[in-house]
Amino acid sequence: MQFQPKASHFINGEYVEDTSGAPIDVIYPATGEVIARLHSATPDIVNQALTSAKNAQTEWAAMSGTERGRVLRRAADIMRDRNRELSILETHDTGKPLQETLVADATSGADALEYFGGLAASLTGEHIPLGGGDFVYTIREALGVCVGIGAWNYPTQIACWKGAPALACGNTMIFKPSETTPLSALQVAEILIEAGAPKGVYNVIQGYGDVGASLVTDPRVAKVSLTGSVPTGRKVYAAAADGMKHVTMELGGKSPMIVFDDADIENAVSGAILGNFYSSGQVCSNGTRVFVQKGIKEAFLNRLSERLESAVIGDPLDEEVNFGPMVSENQLNIALSYVEKGRAEGARLVFGGERIAGDGFYMQPTVFADVADDMTIACEEIFGPVMSVLDFETEEEVMARANDTEFGLAAGVFTNDLTRAHRIVAGFEAGTCYINTYNLAPVEAPFGGSKMSGVGRENSKLAINHFSEMKTVYVSMNDVEAPY
Ligand code: NAD
Repeated sequence: MQFQPKASHFINGEYVEDTSGAPIDVIYPATGEVIARLHSATPDIVNQALTSAKNAQTEWAAMSGTERGRVLRRAADIMRDRNRELSILETHDTGKPLQETLVADATSGADALEYFGGLAASLTGEHIPLGGGDFVYTIREALGVCVGIGAWNYPTQIACWKGAPALACGNTMIFKPSETTPLSALQVAEILIEAGAPKGVYNVIQGYGDVGASLVTDPRVAKVSLTGSVPTGRKVYAAAADGMKHVTMELGGKSPMIVFDDADIENAVSGAILGNFYSSGQVCSNGTRVFVQKGIKEAFLNRLSERLESAVIGDPLDEEVNFGPMVSENQLNIALSYVEKGRAEGARLVFGGERIAGDGFYMQPTVFADVADDMTIACEEIFGPVMSVLDFETEEEVMARANDTEFGLAAGVFTNDLTRAHRIVAGFEAGTCYINTYNLAPVEAPFGGSKMSGVGRENSKLAINHFSEMKTVYVSMNDVEAPY
């Protein structure tokens, strides 16, 4: 098996195996072939990882921020040097076209390692004068052992978006990738060791939901950062609350994208393509409810269909291909079942809608028009290449409809009216908003959701607050006055 790692888990700087754990077959989505066979962590493996992370944390936190940052920045350089090799691995793990993985996975992981590596030396508390000579100072402290739990759509990126800020602050991490895409996080762990991270600072263990759950409930764990669906988020948040643990929740969405009739149609169509079909639609922040003002609806749909005709669907290792398979047969069947619901509930299929014959998990990019707000395809997260186009007439109307969802991850607007653009984003109930573009997530900017889409933010300086806490020290320069 071409992509078989040395062992399933990476603990305390070494590969570790325990074949008594439940098997995890890694399937290449383009062909259905098994490319590696791993094992889910047994309770003994979970315990080894927790012990390793706990033991390493004191030493790691005692290093200066400059030293920790240097390790992260070295790791970023190694990732960039190996970008092609890591991208080929990511393409096999996820099925995403190499054209995408070369620019959006290891590179974005490297950005996070570089950015938080750069911040590590500048993390401080503050001095607060109180008058009369007394003062308070605060000490920014690491939380301890942090658990990262990943989804399958951006495995390298998620492993780094969680690991980099955690490590910059002096925490150690146990990362559990999705059981669907377990391979690339092991590479991140290896690279960190090569970059000089002490053993045990970043551990990876494999497993299904039960392994994630056993990490979340362990008293040695101080923080849990999950990327996953809302139902999983609810369970993990509740379990973490029992131990009063810190959490970051990056969950699902059903984000609106509003296109006014004064918008540049070409840009709006590009935004709708990126926000629905990149990574075969398997992106949490996708703008899957595309509200198009009535005046440009037919022009928008015609141009969209023309552009979709030129999508290059095929072997994801061919760099000309820009639309690959879904991650798994299961995810493909979920997306196809939503296409059936769309048809049955009366939406107008204007593009795609079919599975593509062959062993891989391919379907066509799919567009429904005349979608009503209460249709299932407009209400539920599909997490596949299925776009719903809804009509609207007025700004007031579309604002209310855009926000009428339990989700609040992202939202976007296309218009050439400057004041309207800012008015619309001010009204969006969403954590990550776009004006005249969609789905960009640079490490410098906070990323995360409102409402049921999540708690906390990843990336940017804000992530530091989610991986550290302040100790307050009151210093008296005066005698202590007691009442008796
Ligand atoms: P999922 O919720 O099924 O699984 C996510 C992870 O949680 C997996 O590693 C899984 O093993 C683990 N898990 C499952 N049950 C658990 C439990 N009880 N305790 C602890 N861990 C448990 O999600 P998925 O299918 O892997 O990913 C798709 C979902 O992720 C979509 O809803 C998508 O929107 C969301 N997502 C969100 C973001 C974001 O940044 N907001 C990014 C990518 C994906």
